[in-house]
Amino acid sequence: MHMLQLSAAALLPSLHELWESVFSVIRTMKPVDFIDIAVLSYIIYYFFTLIRETRAGQLAKGIFFLVVAYVIAHIAGMKAIPFMLETLAQSSLLAILIVFQPEVRRAVEKLGHSRFGLNNLGLLGTNEAVETQWREAIDAVCSACMEMSATKTGALIVFERQTRLGEQISNGTILNATPSKELFSQIFYKNTPLHDGAVILRDGMVLAAACYLPTPERNQIINKKFGARHRAAIGMSENSDAIIVVVSEETGSISVAENGDLREDFTWKRLQDHLLNRLLEKQPKKHSLRSLLLRKDHGTSAAGSQPSASDTKGEEVRHEDGMDS
Ligand code: ATP
Ligand code: MG
Repeated sequence: MHMLQLSAAALLPSLHELWESVFSVIRTMKPVDFIDIAVLSYIIYYFFTLIRETRAGQLAKGIFFLVVAYVIAHIAGMKAIPFMLETLAQSSLLAILIVFQPEVRRAVEKLGHSRFGLNNLGLLGTNEAVETQWREAIDAVCSACMEMSATKTGALIVFERQTRLGEQISNGTILNATPSKELFSQIFYKNTPLHDGAVILRDGMVLAAACYLPTPERNQIINKKFGARHRAAIGMSENSDAIIVVVSEETGSISVAENGDLREDFTWKRLQDHLLNRLLEKQPKKHSLRSLLLRKDHGTSAAGSQPSASDTKGEEVRHEDGMDS
């Protein structure tokens, strides 16, 4: 108790000094320094969005707490904890790189494939037209999946997000078609030329079909009940931020792969909500720089006129199958 009081007493003046020195640094900063810090902050933020919800994300949280503990212990004048943490840090960097080699590789790959998160800033023109296109694509996919589920027609549908899937698209057949229930049913109809492989959607359009997807890294530890189609969905989601919908030919069940995980037994409503949420998550409030500059009419927006996630179609299905999630 006495020790704690001493530490707290030592901490307060040190915090005051820290505050003073932070202010003196801010006073001497030039505009370019602020830009420097803003860009660096965005890079760090982007890095964390890449590793979020992965094993590396958990590690990053752990390291953050250790750094906070180190700073507090250091300011409080403690000796043992900083010494131990410094020793740990010196020897652990290499160990972390070796243990997390798959995650590091994937994060760097994602960085290379993506448009470096410029979409998050609204600089690449994610506009109302694309949003409307996505909503129509989601409706078409949900209707098609329900039908293919009932007829036990196997399907693999990839929704491209920020990570560009050029490699997978180039090994398929380019369609560049408007999505519709009929189109998906036609593509995945057994023994037709395009039924083997995956369909890839970009910006709400069916860009390619019969695409070959990568196999997962964790192949050996994936549940044996999953065959090649489900594994390909998991593999694609490990290698990118894409969302992959699978309809099983054997059971008719609908699953969604994301971030290396596969979730099963989606109903129409659950699938529609999930896709709307994932693909349009940042868009209701977002306007591209171009659309802001060009915007004259503030009263209308495609987003506003579209049905919400709980639209009538979803409700109908909920009544029909009684299996709302
Ligand atoms: P289902 O439940 O539909 O039977 P499954 O997971 O058991 O699915 P398989 O029965 O092995 O998988 O499905 C084989 C089909 O999956 C192939 O005919 C092909 O269309 C598709 N497929 C398999 N591997 C890939 C891949 N790497 N990329 C794209 N499509 C693939
Ligand atoms: Mg099978």
